[in-house]
Amino acid sequence: MFKRKLLGNTRVPHRKNTADMPPVRMENASEVLLPMAQHIGAPAEPTVKVGDEVKLGQLIADASGPVSSPIYASVSGKVKTIEQYMRSDGRRVPAVRIVSDGNMTLAEDIAPPEVKDTDSLIEAARRSGLVGLGGAGFPTAVKLDALRKGIIDTVVINGAECEPYITSDTRTMLDDGEWIYRGIALLETYGGNIKKYIFGIEKNKPKCIKAMRELFERNDKVEVKSLPSLYPQGAEKVLIYNTTKRTVPEGKLPSDAGVLVINVTSLAIIAKYVSTGMPLVERCVTLDGDAVKEPKNIIAPIGVSIRELIEFGGGLKDKAGKVLFGGPMMGIAACSLDEPVIKTTGAITVFTEKSSLAVPETACIHCGRCVNACPLNLNPTEYSKALDLENKEDRIARLEKYKVMLCMECGCCSYVCPANRPLVQNNRLAKGELREHRAHSSMLKD
Ligand code: SF4
Ligand code: SF4
Repeated sequence: MFKRKLLGNTRVPHRKNTADMPPVRMENASEVLLPMAQHIGAPAEPTVKVGDEVKLGQLIADASGPVSSPIYASVSGKVKTIEQYMRSDGRRVPAVRIVSDGNMTLAEDIAPPEVKDTDSLIEAARRSGLVGLGGAGFPTAVKLDALRKGIIDTVVINGAECEPYITSDTRTMLDDGEWIYRGIALLETYGGNIKKYIFGIEKNKPKCIKAMRELFERNDKVEVKSLPSLYPQGAEKVLIYNTTKRTVPEGKLPSDAGVLVINVTSLAIIAKYVSTGMPLVERCVTLDGDAVKEPKNIIAPIGVSIRELIEFGGGLKDKAGKVLFGGPMMGIAACSLDEPVIKTTGAITVFTEKSSLAVPETACIHCGRCVNACPLNLNPTEYSKALDLENKEDRIARLEKYKVMLCMECGCCSYVCPANRPLVQNNRLAKGELREHRAHSSMLKD
C-alpha cells in the first residue's frame, strides 16, 4: 500500500437526521427470533428446547467454539419453535423463536461477573454475548484475547459512524459517557501494555468530539481525534491508518500492528455488563430512510421483527421499495419485514419504491474513479473482468492476482462510478467464488 496522508476520499451525504434524538425504548416485543449466527465464526448451540419457559437475560444458546458467541433471551416467555433461518449470505442456521409473555421477567442468575485480571475481563466479554456492533460481528472476547499476549500498545475507539443515516454510536457518545469512561478504566486496569487510547470521530459530530474531550480532559493517555468526514472512515484498516499511521499487514489482524479497535458502543456495553451482569439483549437501532414517517433511534429487544420495529417507530409514510439492514453504503437488503433485528443491526433504513429504482448501467469508460476511490488501492474493474472469463481456472487466477479477498465491500467504487457499474455486487460474487474454490481445494488436500 503506498503512503497516503489519509485513507478514504469519498464524500457521501450524511443524513444524520436522528443525531439529536435520544433513543426511545421499546419495552417489549410480541415475539423474537434469535438466529444462532449473529456473529462471525461458529454458530451458537441452543441450550433450550421447544416449550421451555425462558426469562429475560437467560442463556438460550452457548458459544460452540473459540470463535463464537452466546445468545440470551431478549424477552421472557415460551420457546415456540427452533427453526431454520436463512441469512442474507444464503447460509441456513437454526433460530430460536420466543413468544413473549409481556412481563419481561428477569432471569434470577443475572449478577455482575468478578473481574480481577485480564483473563477475567476477557471471560466477562465472552459471557456478555458482545460482538462487534459496528456491523462486523467479530466476537469481542476474541479481539480482546490479544491483550493476554501483551502486544497491544494502542486502542482505537471507533466513533466514526461514517455510514449515512446511522446515529446509534452518536447517541452512545452523547448519552452514555459514564459507561465509556468506565470502559476505558477497565482497559487501563486490566489491558496489559496499553499506552494510548485514541477516539476516531468524524468532524461532522462536533458534539461527540466535545463530549469525549471533556470526559477525558484529565487523562493524557486519551486523545480524541477529529477526522475528516470522508467515507469509509470507520472501516477498521482505514481508521487504524488515519489515527495511528500504522498499516495492518495483508492477511493479518490489527493486533499484528499493535492495535485493538473497539466500537465505542461495544466499549460502553462491556462496562455495563461488568457493573450489572446484564448480557447483550437489546441494542440501539436507527430507523430512518425516506419511507419512514418519523425517523428515530430505538432501543429494541434483539430478535424483534423489522415489521414490529417499524410499527413501534410510527410506521411508514410511503410503500417500501427497499429495506436495508444498515445504511445505504454497506447495508444488506432484507428479504422480508419478518426478518429480525440482530446484534449487528445498527440501523434499519427504508426507502420508497421511487428512490429504490435501479439505475441502468452503461459500459465502463475506463475513467479510473473506482480505483481512485478504493481506500485499499484495489482495482475493482479487474474483478468484474474476471467474472466474465469462461474458464474457471483463469477466473480464479485473476481474482487471486488482484487480491479480491481484501475487498471490504465498502461500496465506494460503486458509489463513484459514472457508468453505474455494480462493482461491489461483483466483488461479493467474486469473493464467494474464490472462497468456495479455496474451501474445495483445502478439502481435497485433507
Ligand atoms: S468495495 Fe472493495 S474494491 Fe470497492 S472501494 Fe471498497 S474495498 Fe475497494
Ligand atoms: S468508475 Fe466505473 S466507468 Fe470508471 S473505470 Fe471504474 S467501472 Fe469503469
